[in-house]
Amino acid sequence: MSNYDNQNIFAKILRGDIPCEKIYEDEYVLSFKDVNPQAPSHILIIPKGAYTDINDFIENASNEEIIGFNRAIPVVAHQLGISETSGGKGYRLISNAGSEAHQTVAHFHIHLLAGRNLGPMLVSIK
Ligand code: 5GP
Repeated sequence: MSNYDNQNIFAKILRGDIPCEKIYEDEYVLSFKDVNPQAPSHILIIPKGAYTDINDFIENASNEEIIGFNRAIPVVAHQLGISETSGGKGYRLISNAGSEAHQTVAHFHIHLLAGRNLGPMLVSIK
């Protein structure tokens, strides 16, 4: 069973209780700028449903929600002009799940990062 907390910051953004810089919205997702950008383009894409992380989302969302969420990714990337097929140089997706991944907001989200050379996938801190 999900232990989703509807007081998390993204739940508040979805309800309109706090503002965001919206990039894209449809019946499945909301996409907006990260408040603390780690790249020139740092966008979050979140499902409208209440899911704590990617495990919860993939295990419990409907096929329609999962497809709707995934289909929004290239829509956002093309809209921002960061996909190679829309004139950009590519982008990276990250989804943190759990404590060692440093997930800080317990509403499933993916980070979409672009706008500079993002370097190797991870800084090595073995
Ligand atoms: P996580 O660490 O859970 O993978 O990512 C959470 C992200 O949410 C962080 O990159 C953080 O900057 C962003 N964030 C936290 N609070 C807010 C907020 O109130 N508005 C926006 N737009 N982003 C937020």
